[in-house]
Amino acid sequence: QCSLVCPTGALVEKDDTEKVLDALQDPKKHVIVQVAPSVRVSLGDAFGMEPGAIVTGQMVTALHLLGFDKVFDTNFGADLTIMEEGTEFLDRLQHGGVLPMMTSCCPGWVSYVEKHYSDCLPHLSSTKSPMSIFGAVAKTYYPKAAGIDPKDIVTVSVMPCTAKKFEAARPEMGREGRQDVDIVLTTRELIKLIKYVGLSFGQLPETDFDSPLGTASGAGAIFGTTGGVMEAALRTVCDKLTGKTLERLDFQEARGFQGIKECTLEIGGHTLHIAIAHTLKNAEILMEQVRKGISPYDFIEVMACPGGCIGGGGQPVGTTNAVKKKRMQALYEIDRNLPVRKSHENPVLQVLYRDFLGEPGQGKAHELLHTSYNAVPKEYRF
Ligand code: SF4
Repeated sequence: QCSLVCPTGALVEKDDTEKVLDALQDPKKHVIVQVAPSVRVSLGDAFGMEPGAIVTGQMVTALHLLGFDKVFDTNFGADLTIMEEGTEFLDRLQHGGVLPMMTSCCPGWVSYVEKHYSDCLPHLSSTKSPMSIFGAVAKTYYPKAAGIDPKDIVTVSVMPCTAKKFEAARPEMGREGRQDVDIVLTTRELIKLIKYVGLSFGQLPETDFDSPLGTASGAGAIFGTTGGVMEAALRTVCDKLTGKTLERLDFQEARGFQGIKECTLEIGGHTLHIAIAHTLKNAEILMEQVRKGISPYDFIEVMACPGGCIGGGGQPVGTTNAVKKKRMQALYEIDRNLPVRKSHENPVLQVLYRDFLGEPGQGKAHELLHTSYNAVPKEYRF
């Protein structure tokens, strides 16, 4: 089912709201939903709230009223991504692996590398995105813990992103013939569903995410903005490199809207050269250095959309730079107000590794939480 999104009808947007409604009406299905970090600071725009309003509690209530059995947090998946990506980076740094390592949580960016820089694929982190990591846990650990047949679980994700629909459908992102994420809705599609059932969003009471997969750190929260993935990773990497619990939480060097940000950090006897880019135009500048073997960096973050996911293609129409700034500030506010702000200190994540995943980057954790990439032949590029 497609809905028209341009006045001439020349462009259409994939609409999966009916699939979600069908799943919610099937009494045999246990339907769970995860929500990306940036959705909670953009959803309010559609209901007359100030740009950047933090509507986490109302959003969770709305999802329960829509009929979801459990409402979980992609930020928990982001914490897992940091555990795996941080471990992978340290391994590459300390054992002569391929550097610079590049983040891989943005499907627009991954697809760009697969198409235009396939010679550089070994630079991409093999760690799955927060959405796909969450999906893998939701279809393995969660049914076991909840005593539900994995076949009866439907996983829905609400994303700021149209490209996440493509990521969820990749054959690598599933097991035993089933995808880890069954349906992806954009922020716009969630708005449509909330309006369809006639909820007065602004009047809804606030509720918390469900447990166990709804507990996340502040590091997970800032994934929604350019620089957020790098800052979250540095909080964990710096602790691991020094073997200490560092007091430093904020990495101002990673914040702001500059197209390319760079910094050098002296940590635990290592000098780390970092770069962060948003938009593929800026990423291209960094990629030409990587391709020529002259990149001065150890770790690079790229997000394809301007500002990162706060400016994603699935967000409410009419997102200006001023609106993105408000959303960015809101994500940092969520981070500041959380009791745990480093991914590796998330207590639920620690239990998950202890009881189910084992050591980060090894065994079951590697099997479920990592992926691989494919060069796209020239004839299939557009
Ligand atoms: Fe999707 Fe854009 Fe976010 Fe990348 S930056 S994950 S393309 S919304």
